[in-house]
Amino acid sequence: MSNYAQRVLDELKARNAHEKEFIQAATEILTTLKPVIDKHPEFEKAGLLERFVEPERIIMFRVPWVDDNGNVQVNRGYRVQFNSAIGPYKGGLRLHPSVNLSIIKFLGFEQILKNSLTGLPIGGGKGGSDFDPKGKSDTEVMHFCQSFMTELYRHIGADVDVPAGDIGVGAREIGYLYGQYKRITGLYEGVLTGKGLTYGGSLARKEATGFGLCYFVDAMLKANGSSFEGKTVVISGSGNVAIYACQKATQLGAKVVALSDSNGYVYDPNGINLDVVKQLKEVERKRIKEYVTAVPTATYTEGCSGIWTIPCDIALPCATQNEIDEASAKTLVANGVKAVGEGANMPSTLEATKVFQDAGVLFAPAKAANAGGVATSALEMSQNSMRLSWTFEEVDAKLKGIMEGIFAKVDEAAKEYATEGDYVAGANIAGFLKVADAMMAQGAV
Ligand code: NDP
Repeated sequence: MSNYAQRVLDELKARNAHEKEFIQAATEILTTLKPVIDKHPEFEKAGLLERFVEPERIIMFRVPWVDDNGNVQVNRGYRVQFNSAIGPYKGGLRLHPSVNLSIIKFLGFEQILKNSLTGLPIGGGKGGSDFDPKGKSDTEVMHFCQSFMTELYRHIGADVDVPAGDIGVGAREIGYLYGQYKRITGLYEGVLTGKGLTYGGSLARKEATGFGLCYFVDAMLKANGSSFEGKTVVISGSGNVAIYACQKATQLGAKVVALSDSNGYVYDPNGINLDVVKQLKEVERKRIKEYVTAVPTATYTEGCSGIWTIPCDIALPCATQNEIDEASAKTLVANGVKAVGEGANMPSTLEATKVFQDAGVLFAPAKAANAGGVATSALEMSQNSMRLSWTFEEVDAKLKGIMEGIFAKVDEAAKEYATEGDYVAGANIAGFLKVADAMMAQGAV
């Protein structure tokens, strides 16, 4: 690592000692930026990295709401507006009991580079709360969302900051949040993405992250003389990203044999029946273990990390951060995995990533591979501004073009600055260069 990047990382660790996920993301990014930092001594003079690692603004707030028994509950809300050099802040809202400032900062930091890679004018941000939607009634979720937006509305806007979904935030939550924003401000504007189709949502947004992941992995495989055709695929998670990754991988000729949730995983050697999964997860909001009731030839195993012991050609982690550790990565490699595509954000630990790269596994890092969701959110913003709706095919074609474009940029940056095939370095460098240029142009204060 360059002396400058190392010094900034040391300061960041001292200042944010308890934020382990943020430190993990920053370590990977700053380590891989060395060749760029070495080439641009003016960055140090301008304090560019010190500014880059510090969010422009952090908003933390109380979210009080009343449950179905009439009891007052209090959660903590966050919005981290990390970087607006290339556009309004953009990034999802996560509702999960594990949410804390470190997780929101790591997600916001990654989002800066991801959004830059899309080629669209969007800055980086992220938010959420430690509220757990699981087991709550629709009314309780609505009360929470309304209270959350009652504070958040003052900090966002169609040209200021445009949140979207993430873990625990789907169409239902976006609807409640949008309704409250409109009620308070009187504005009918594209302030959130992932909206329902009757009130400004974009066709193909629901599918975008999972489809985009497969478009990226397909481009990576093809550049290396392979494809999805005839491959066995394991996908973790069974939420928005996992479901549509499963659909597109299957369309591209692969057989997906496993899915999971935070309790366990199902293995279906005949190939996952996606109609069953959609009914369970999108309609009935049930657990993945119910899959074996509808498909008795499949098996269910308790515990989610065991999914990585299933032999496969391609692994697509689509659940959450740090779900593949070093031991799981070694098992996947020993079982012959050829490619890994990160649908979730930072699903591989730093040690796991090294295992894959050392073993010559094709490795598609999250900030490039899962950028299809935010890219399509930016297309939703464009449609809102133009008061137009594109067809599913139009949006899907744009998404495919964007993902292939991201792969080309990442591949080229890896060749120019790092090692051919090191898509982790390629993604960080390609994403950073545009943001750095904009930050330099806009001055230091
Ligand atoms: P969903 O809430 O729709 O689904 C999340 C899935 O992951 C569920 O199956 C959930 O299981 C599982 N999961 C969540 N937390 C854990 C955990 N701690 N351990 C094991 N499994 C877990 O979320 P999304 O599909 O939208 O998001 C999945 C990942 O993709 C996240 O990392 C997100 O940041 C990333 N992402 C999402 C985008 C989007 O457009 N939605 C865009 C880019 C990235 P359970 O039901 O048991 O909680």
